[in-house]
Amino acid sequence: MKTHTEYLTFNTKKRYDIVNITQQVILAIKKSKVKDGMCLVNSMHITSSVFINDNESGLHQDFLEWVEELAPYNVKKYRHNLTGEDNGDAHLKRTLMGREVVVAITDGELDFGPWEQIFYGEFDGQRAKRVLVKIIGE
Ligand code: ZN
Repeated sequence: MKTHTEYLTFNTKKRYDIVNITQQVILAIKKSKVKDGMCLVNSMHITSSVFINDNESGLHQDFLEWVEELAPYNVKKYRHNLTGEDNGDAHLKRTLMGREVVVAITDGELDFGPWEQIFYGEFDGQRAKRVLVKIIGE
């Protein structure tokens, strides 16, 4: 069995952002030389997400507005912020959007549905944060 591990780093200009990371994952699969297997992609931080959805800018804005409605940025609202942090909202947003995705690799490619793409969701950005890509297979 082959394995391949990569750490991608993201440092978004904005506090909240959605970044399409599909091409970086495809590149990691090519480097791994795995033709049949599984690919795990997960955020290593508890205030950012990795998720699969449509590469459509209106939908990305909808996601950002949806998580803002459910977990608005408000320093006074969250007990977590009593620790001196201001990112209580970001922890909740990350939980809403998820930690990781697992995608099958078939014939050396991500075995996606027709509109699936992989995204990094940032909810407390403007600093370097890592995403793990772990590939296993034959
Ligand atoms: Zn925090």
